Amino acid sequence: MGSLPDRAATAAKLASLADDIRACRACARHLPLGPRPVFRAAATARVLIAGQAPGTRVHETGIPWNDPSGERLRRWLGLSADVFYDETRIAVVPMGFCYPGRLPRGGDAPPRPECAPLWRARLLALLPELRLTLLVGSYAIADALGPGPMTAQVRRFRALLPGRCALPHPSWRTLAWERRNPWFAEELLPTMRTALATALDGEIRRDPALVEIA
Ligand code: SF4
Repeated sequence: MGSLPDRAATAAKLASLADDIRACRACARHLPLGPRPVFRAAATARVLIAGQAPGTRVHETGIPWNDPSGERLRRWLGLSADVFYDETRIAVVPMGFCYPGRLPRGGDAPPRPECAPLWRARLLALLPELRLTLLVGSYAIADALGPGPMTAQVRRFRALLPGRCALPHPSWRTLAWERRNPWFAEELLPTMRTALATALDGEIRRDPALVEIA
């Protein structure tokens, strides 16, 4: 990271952008529960968790991954809730910030397409310490790696690490997928956890100029 004035300027820009995102109403007419952007980031974050969009429980609480999928994700990562929710180390930036509603045939709708083009690049540009991005679910994977079968993208972990790693969305539906793909628990998870520990390791330089925006 740069000098103290540089870091203070980045933190100030991040805080200002976070305020703009929280005030966003760009796709409000499509959101059944209304806008409530849920994300976390601080300029010191080393790891980015790029998910898809909040579910209803996350919308209600305003806490990302505050549901059974989040518990499964934390088990995969081998992280306690304390570390997972330490936004000075881990940023949580989904592809869509607000709950997008349900599909007619069931399941959550995709992230709103307006969201990422409006905010994503600007937000990530203010996270200069990122070392590892975890792409969680098909929308984040396709955005970063391009189209392709999810299993094949996840299986590329040795080529993508230490900078990136694709993971399936950790919903209950993934349990059967995990059973069909034993390499995920036996090979990917230990390798990914090593990269995660390396990315999180080292002194986190905290100073009053760094504003946390969670
Ligand atoms: S989903 Fe994104 S674009 Fe739509 S209102 Fe929420 S923050 Fe704005």
